[in-house]
Amino acid sequence: MTHLVTTKQELRQRIRDTNGSIGLVMTMGALHAGHRRLIDAARAHSDTVVVSIYVNPLQFAPGEDFDAYPRQLEKDMEILGDVDIVFAPSDDEMYENEPLVRIDPGQVATRFEGATRPTHFAGVLQVVAKVFNLVRPDVAYFGQKDAQQLALITTMVRDLDMGIDIVGVPIVRDSDGLALSSRNTYLSPEERTTALALVQALTAAREAARGGLPPAETERLLGETLAGTTGVDVDYATIVSPETFQGVSSNARTGLAIVAARVGATRLIDNMEVSFG
Ligand code: AMP
Repeated sequence: MTHLVTTKQELRQRIRDTNGSIGLVMTMGALHAGHRRLIDAARAHSDTVVVSIYVNPLQFAPGEDFDAYPRQLEKDMEILGDVDIVFAPSDDEMYENEPLVRIDPGQVATRFEGATRPTHFAGVLQVVAKVFNLVRPDVAYFGQKDAQQLALITTMVRDLDMGIDIVGVPIVRDSDGLALSSRNTYLSPEERTTALALVQALTAAREAARGGLPPAETERLLGETLAGTTGVDVDYATIVSPETFQGVSSNARTGLAIVAARVGATRLIDNMEVSFG
């Protein structure tokens, strides 16, 4: 039986009534099989599974898609499956007051996603810290799809001694390889085909690296492959260390290839681990 709660007080009460371990999955709704994979991981390892569904205004800059972001709570409740508590607050409930104390996500948040979206990660960490404090989970599950977010949340938990295990869950893709994302609903059929350029460039880089291409050349191949596709406006295409998001050295054994690009009006991100053979 799933309990839908919309206030912090109800959430705290439900949490108080639980026994055993708590696993948390935070989402912005418009749920898909990627979210389900996180929920399944939580279900497999926790006595109680809590899912939050909240489109967090703090992580959107003016002019981004906060208003357009898909909101479909009733449909989400059907997709959720075996979840104990769903927390779906209003904006007034989540932020009763304009937050004065803010989380500073530090240097990693200024790169890549943070370079294009300067206030994004501060907004993400603010809401993640709030929900962590409300739920006090033992384990929280985040997708490797948002690799920089995963790295920053792991760092926040470590640096603030939050005592929560952060588990990264592999990217779930459609049968043609496109990484699932709530934002894929913005794509026209033609744009959706064009968007396959992201996974194709990542795959080409991974195969070339495996075949012996050094890091710098692999990075160049990644960028050129992506930029060579008509209709794809590349934001970044590079290879980093997944913990620090610094570039990898010429003798690195592994790295994370990360890409961001606009297809039409939709900004998409994707990534893939690479091993240099
Ligand atoms: P969102 O609702 O987009 O904020 O995502 C909520 C959580 O689901 C985040 O931890 C995401 O990284 C994760 N997630 C989103 N898409 C995928 C995917 N295709 N595969 C795995 N995890 C995902």
